[in-house]
Amino acid sequence: MSQIQVSRGTRDILPAEIPYWQQVEAIARDIFSRANYQEMRTPVFEQTELFARGIGETTDVVSKEMYTFTDRGDRSLTLRPEGTAGFVRAFIEHKMQAQGDVQRLWYLGPMFRYERPQAGRQRQFHQVGIESLGSADPRADAEVIAIANDLLKAIGLKDLRLEYNSLGDRQDRLQYREALIAYLTPYQADLDPDSQNRLLHNPLRILDSKIERTQEILQEAPSILDHLSPESQQRSQQVQHLLTDLGIPYNLNAKLVRGLDYYTHTVFEIQSDDLGAQATVCAGGRYDGLIRELGGAETPAVGWASGLERLILLMQQLQPPKPPTLDFYLVSRGDRAEAQALKVAQTLRQIGFSVELDLSGSAFGKQFKRADRSGAAACLILGDAEADTQTAQLKWLASGEQRAIAQSDLPTLADEFRQQIRVSRAS
Ligand code: ATP
Ligand code: MG
Repeated sequence: MSQIQVSRGTRDILPAEIPYWQQVEAIARDIFSRANYQEMRTPVFEQTELFARGIGETTDVVSKEMYTFTDRGDRSLTLRPEGTAGFVRAFIEHKMQAQGDVQRLWYLGPMFRYERPQAGRQRQFHQVGIESLGSADPRADAEVIAIANDLLKAIGLKDLRLEYNSLGDRQDRLQYREALIAYLTPYQADLDPDSQNRLLHNPLRILDSKIERTQEILQEAPSILDHLSPESQQRSQQVQHLLTDLGIPYNLNAKLVRGLDYYTHTVFEIQSDDLGAQATVCAGGRYDGLIRELGGAETPAVGWASGLERLILLMQQLQPPKPPTLDFYLVSRGDRAEAQALKVAQTLRQIGFSVELDLSGSAFGKQFKRADRSGAAACLILGDAEADTQTAQLKWLASGEQRAIAQSDLPTLADEFRQQIRVSRAS
C-alpha cells in the first residue's frame, strides 16, 4: 500500500528536538510569571467571522492564508492563524475587564496559515505570545517589548535588532493612507502586481514590499512620522525614551507596518540576521481599536507573538543537543529474572529514578550494548543466579565498578544512587 506522508507545510517534532521546545517553554513560563502574566488557552478553531473582523478582510492572512471549513452543522469555522483575536473574544466573553485594571495574559500553541512552505515558514507553526489588556500607558508598550527582549536573551539569542515605529491613531493612519495613495498612484504601472493590488485595498502594506523597483519608488514616499498628530508623536517619544532608559537599543523604522489591520501607535519587530530570509522572530504592537471592533468596551491593549520554529532554529545553531539523562538500564535473561526485572524497574521508578527495561530477551551481550548506547548512568543485571537470591548486579557504566545488591535494599540505597548518578554525570 502507498505510504502516507505528513501534510505539506507541517512537520513532526521528533524526540531529539523536543528538549529545545521544553527549554523555550520553561524559560517563557518563568519570564512571564515574573511579570505576573497568566496563561490562557483558547480553542484552535473559532468562527470565521472573528478573524475576518479582528484581523481585517484585506490582510494577507484573511484573504489568502486562512484554513476555513464548513462543519457538519453548516458553520463556517477557521483554524486560528494567530492568537490575539481569540484572546480578545475570550476577554469580552468572560467579562475579564471587570476583573481588574490590566489583564496580563500569555499563550503558546499551534497556528495555521496557508503559506508557501520554506525554512522557518510553515502551514502549522507555533507561537508564544503575550497580551496586556487595559492600559494606554506608554509603559505598557515598553513593558511588553522589554519582556520580549528578556525572553529572547534568556534563550541565548544574540545579534537581535528591534525595529520600532508608530502608526499613530486611526485618524493619523487614515490621513497617511491618503497621502501614500496620492504619492503612489502616478507610479501605479511600475509597482509589482502585489503592490498594485494593495494600492486599492491595503496601501500601507506596500511599504513592506521586498521588490527592488517598488522599494526605489518608495524612497521619496511620504513618511508616517510626518503624519502623526502632536499627541501621537509625543506618545511615540515617550515609548522611545522608556526603551532607552531600559537599555534596549532600537531602530526607528518609518517603513515598518504590520500585516494585521488592527494596530495603532506602537508596532515593532525583533529580527535576527542569523535566520536568512525569515528574519523576524517576534512581532507585535498596540491594538486599541480591536476590542470595540469585536463587540467589547473600548479597551487599550498591546502585545506580541513570537514564532517558536524560528527561535528553535536559532537555538539549534547555538547549543549542542542535550545529553540523555537516563538513570538505570535494566538487563535480564530467563523467565524468573525477567519477571523480577520488571518489578525492580517499577520500584526504582516509584522512588524517583528513570529506568529503561530491556524487553528483548536477547543474549546478555546485546543487551549490554544497548545499555551503553542508552546513556544510562548504571546498569542492573538479573540472570538466573540473581533471581534465585533476589539480588541484582549493579554496574556503574562510567567507571565499570560492579557489585551485588539485594532487591529489597533498593529503597535504602536510593540516596547513595543519587549521589553516584550526580558524580557520573559530572565526569
Ligand atoms: P511574516 O512577515 O514573516 O509573514 P507575519 O507578519 O505574518 O510574519 P505575525 O503574524 O506578526 O507574522 O506573526 C508573528 C511571528 O510568528 C512572526 O514574526 C514569525 O516569527 C512567526 N510566524 C508567522 N508566520 C509564520 C509561519 N508561517 N511559519 C512560522 N512562523 C511564522
Ligand atoms: Mg505572514
